[in-house]
Amino acid sequence: MNPNTNTMHSPDACTACTICVTHCPVAMATRKFRGPKLTGPAYERFRMLGFRDETSLEYCSNCKNCDISCPSGVSVATFNMLARAVYCREHKPPLCDWVLAHSGDIGKLCAHLPGRLLNACMDNPLSRLVMHAFGIEKRAPLPRFAPLAERRAFVKKGRTRIGRKTVAFFPDCFTRHYDPATGLDAIRLLEKAGYTVVVPNAFECCGLPLVAGGYADDARRKARMNSKELAFWSGQGVPVLTVCPGCALMLQYEYRNLFSEEETLGNHAGHVIDICVFVADLIRAGTLDLSGARSGVAKLAYHAPCHARVQGAGRAGLDLLSMLPGMECTDMDSGCCGIAGSYGFKRNTYAIGMRVGEALFTAIREHCAPLAASECGTCRVQIRHGSGIGVLHPISVVLSSLK
Ligand code: SF4
Ligand code: SF4
Repeated sequence: MNPNTNTMHSPDACTACTICVTHCPVAMATRKFRGPKLTGPAYERFRMLGFRDETSLEYCSNCKNCDISCPSGVSVATFNMLARAVYCREHKPPLCDWVLAHSGDIGKLCAHLPGRLLNACMDNPLSRLVMHAFGIEKRAPLPRFAPLAERRAFVKKGRTRIGRKTVAFFPDCFTRHYDPATGLDAIRLLEKAGYTVVVPNAFECCGLPLVAGGYADDARRKARMNSKELAFWSGQGVPVLTVCPGCALMLQYEYRNLFSEEETLGNHAGHVIDICVFVADLIRAGTLDLSGARSGVAKLAYHAPCHARVQGAGRAGLDLLSMLPGMECTDMDSGCCGIAGSYGFKRNTYAIGMRVGEALFTAIREHCAPLAASECGTCRVQIRHGSGIGVLHPISVVLSSLK
């Protein structure tokens, strides 16, 4: 990740080498997208002069592979997202963009409704046809709401009192509404290491879906609320752990990059830790003992989410899984899965997302492992959809090996 915000916010840092173009999975998958060099720094110069034409920006998935590859440290995706925000202030985005961008808020509104009822309403042939008409692809693997009991069990952990060895768990929207089982696995694993885990309800959606949908002002409001909550936990000396790489990216880097005029938003970014990094450190320190671990599978296919790779901290999930005795875990190293948050759910980008993910799906199928692992919830949904293979968060694999 480029920490040099001055370089990042100047299109003149771009040397037009086109390396980002060869690393952009969307530019490779469709000719509808003009590619990162043009939509990012090149058109930025025109935007600075007041030109506001849409330059195929809607096709940028915000996967950030351009940022990963740029040798000059240009944050192309940030240019694109800020330009999309300006465009969307002047041109109202379609309803489906609003729904997908605000899925965290919608999930909170549905917090007390049974998962079975919500899924029956959302995932039947008629509602899928209606949603398709509004822009949400009918073949897309929309995540299903988890049973109410699981969602409640996860949130209930928030009532735990702060103890001596306490960590706070950032309740990302995917875990909170669709996959509390992964959150509960993480909590049980941390408790095995002697930690008290708090799930603070005051944390809001990290804002990443809002940024990708063009709702940067709504994302900024979330950033302010989350930064206030982060400051509280930082003041208590309690680290904030994330299981979702996209949320970690927002909390640690993007608040500062996207909302650079509000300097305080990035003040406590260093207090956020990826849970795989945290648990791997516990194992190295001998606080968590894996010597008796027996995993149900001996072979795993690992996918490193783009939003984890852009943070430049290596492959935390792979490092953690490699610590399991007898586990053969292979990095598929096949690029983006194509989902990019909600990009793969939209009618106009679903097919592009599936083309982007094809190399990864093929690699996973050909690897013939019974199970795959990845930190990102929507990557897991997309991999299951594209390859037919089951996928877990690395934390769930580690916990299951200790049972
Ligand atoms: S890789 Fe960086 S320097 Fe090269 S064209 Fe892309 S943005 Fe410009
Ligand atoms: S964020 Fe992804 S899709 Fe958008 S320009 Fe960069 S590499 Fe391409």
